[in-house]
Amino acid sequence: MLRTFLLNILAAALLGTSLSADVRNVIVIGWDGAQRNHVKEMIARNELPSLIALCKEGRLIDIDVTDGATDTKAGWTQILTGYSCSITGVYNNTRYQPIPEGYSVFERLESHFGPDKIDTVAVIGKKNHVGNAAPKKIPYTRFEKQLEQKKKGNPAAAAALARTARIFEENGEKFALIPGEPWYSASRKMDLFVNGLSENEKVAERALEEIEKRKDRRFFLFIHFAQPDHAGHQYGENSQEYTKALRDDDLWTGRIVAKLKELGLYEKTLVYVVVDHGFDEGQKSHSYAPYVFLGTNDPAINRDGDRADIAPTILKRFGMDLSKISPLLTGVPLDEPAPRKIAPAEKPAAKARSKKTKDQPLSSLGKNSPALEKLRTLDVNDLTPIEAVNLLKEIKKEME
Ligand SMILES: [Zn+2]
Repeated sequence: MLRTFLLNILAAALLGTSLSADVRNVIVIGWDGAQRNHVKEMIARNELPSLIALCKEGRLIDIDVTDGATDTKAGWTQILTGYSCSITGVYNNTRYQPIPEGYSVFERLESHFGPDKIDTVAVIGKKNHVGNAAPKKIPYTRFEKQLEQKKKGNPAAAAALARTARIFEENGEKFALIPGEPWYSASRKMDLFVNGLSENEKVAERALEEIEKRKDRRFFLFIHFAQPDHAGHQYGENSQEYTKALRDDDLWTGRIVAKLKELGLYEKTLVYVVVDHGFDEGQKSHSYAPYVFLGTNDPAINRDGDRADIAPTILKRFGMDLSKISPLLTGVPLDEPAPRKIAPAEKPAAKARSKKTKDQPLSSLGKNSPALEKLRTLDVNDLTPIEAVNLLKEIKKEME
């Protein structure tokens, strides 16, 4: 009994190794704004044949969003870096910055294989939220005029711009700084970054061209379909239009898989269909829509996971040693055990600002406070500066 069990583990381990040895390419296909339940209902009605066929060879798993906003900027940044938003600085669509240099899957693969040994490519439907624009510094008076103008046409966009801009003074002159978009640094290291293609058809046609062009090379390709998100915002999650847009994602996903088969690449290409955020049930918004999915032909995937687990999975499949990546990735590969993170049903309340600790007396820590106990028993003169700092941190944490 035990012997069979051990043999099975050994077999699984060997299978796992040989699998990643055969992997040459990875394609991530993004279905922007695809709600998990809506997709599962369509699967039950047999309406997403390409996704169903893909998952038959691998897995369909639940993915939850437990860190960062359920929106586009935070979503694709997390999916393609594997980090918490506190590490990338991309929290949501209005609070963001360029992803720190070197942190994206694209850049990691470029440096792992060497720039000539892999093609890293992104073909993207959306423009600004999956954008690579440089930071902009503009005189404040001009910024104010822009804001006024935007208010007339698109008040929501004006409000977003006002929230995004950082106002500062330099030599007595006032400026507005619009931060660089998330893909500003990363796109400079990639072989191709093209965004704003809008319709699924245009995105897919460009992607098919790129696959053909690179068929003899190793590649990592990100293909981003925006249509379900747009349809959801315009007509709502329960609309026919939203359903139709998802069918369109599926249709083009099928064409991409067919192309891989035609070129003889399918056997050595892992395809992951992934989602940045879902949709608020029956609404035209996704202010809290943490339930999404991952569908793949990768049979090694063996558990449900978190939005941050996708990037580590890809990097591992390309043979990278994740323990050498700095800073350590937030996510865990989806073929390794990890505690299940489940997004709560209600949006967690924004963390209450911690009470000002500086005026609280130490007695407010309470009788059983570990920090207070340490203070009582320690000789302060024996403390090293690092120990002292850590103790201060402990006190502060207890007071919050
Ligand atoms: Zn959206």
